[in-house]
Amino acid sequence: MRLYFDSNATTALRSEARDALVHTYDHVWANASSVHMDGRAARESVERARQQLAKASGCRSDEIIFTSGATEANNTALMGAAFTAAEAGKKHLVVPRSEHPSVIGPVERLVSDYGFRCTWLSPDTEGRIGAEQVLDALEEDTALVALMGANNETGNLYPVYELGPELNARGVHFHVDCVQLLGKTELNLATMGATSAALSAHKIYGPKGVGALYLKKGTRLPSFMVGGHQEREKRAGTEPVPLIVAFGLAAELAASEVSDYQERIGALRDQLWQGIKESMSGVYRNGDVNKDLALPNTLNISFDDTEGETILISLDLMGVSVSSGSACTAGSLEPSHVLLAMNLPKSRARAALRFSLTKDCTEGDIRRVLELLPQVVADVRGADPSVESRI
Ligand code: PMP
Repeated sequence: MRLYFDSNATTALRSEARDALVHTYDHVWANASSVHMDGRAARESVERARQQLAKASGCRSDEIIFTSGATEANNTALMGAAFTAAEAGKKHLVVPRSEHPSVIGPVERLVSDYGFRCTWLSPDTEGRIGAEQVLDALEEDTALVALMGANNETGNLYPVYELGPELNARGVHFHVDCVQLLGKTELNLATMGATSAALSAHKIYGPKGVGALYLKKGTRLPSFMVGGHQEREKRAGTEPVPLIVAFGLAAELAASEVSDYQERIGALRDQLWQGIKESMSGVYRNGDVNKDLALPNTLNISFDDTEGETILISLDLMGVSVSSGSACTAGSLEPSHVLLAMNLPKSRARAALRFSLTKDCTEGDIRRVLELLPQVVADVRGADPSVESRI
């Protein structure tokens, strides 16, 4: 059986969500906007899922807008918030370089095509971004700040709960990509004070193709998708009722499992890191080592004198799926933009390997990786493991 250590990229659909998905396709397939009884049943299912997601995220259900995923939610929030603020003459943005591409992309577009200025923040070498650093970057005409709750590559948690009230007080739109927070931490969007947030189903054992935009009540935001009245005019298009139902259930279950994730999975991640450190030399942890400031399931490491991609391929051949944290663009291997933003040497960024544990990870899985990895790293370094352990 293969071992899957890439849950920050995506997760398998959990059986409860799959059952709900299939049941809804079979029995509740009508258009949720139809007035007949079938349509009303679909509408009820959508609204129940909205309540489940709202409860799991600590917000009101009328603040949830279903989308095709977090990429759409990020695009909608950032473009919409920027255009709204521009009407009041605000054209400055504050965004870290370590954000997800679905945040960086729209921000780059706002700068290149729509005359916005952006202060790009750099994290420190442990991937940290301080609240003060964000506040210091604000200018008179700052339209928005975008800061993810947790980084998908390093697992770093950012001070979003601290910043929300500060930015609200200054009237700056605060967009938080909460994709990696949901299910791994207690998420409370109201306490956080986010103006908008992005959520995704397929990172929490729900289906791909559905996500949500959280929009704080009373926030004005032009819709990205037009041509239909769905989602209170905020997102046109027939609702994918089965996907939404499965998302709602996955969110409810994920929220109920946060403490297990924090404790059991956090302990397994620590065991993995401890085992790696003890069995190999020349290995570095990328990201914050303070447990309170990192996701419990993520371990990003670099081995001296290796390429992450080579280790990834060797592990893959042995039945273990991990990520190298780099993107393959047109055949050329680019080191992770997050690790480069942390000002790590290119060689260390290129050597990065990310383990992101699933909720079903066991001690046996960790033991298996610890059995395989030293030999793989030694082979990649072109050295004998017995020599390696003596260095
Ligand atoms: N933000 C973060 C932090 C992510 O990890 C991802 C998924 N890689 C996304 C946004 C995009 O989510 P989706 O696949 O739902 O569009």
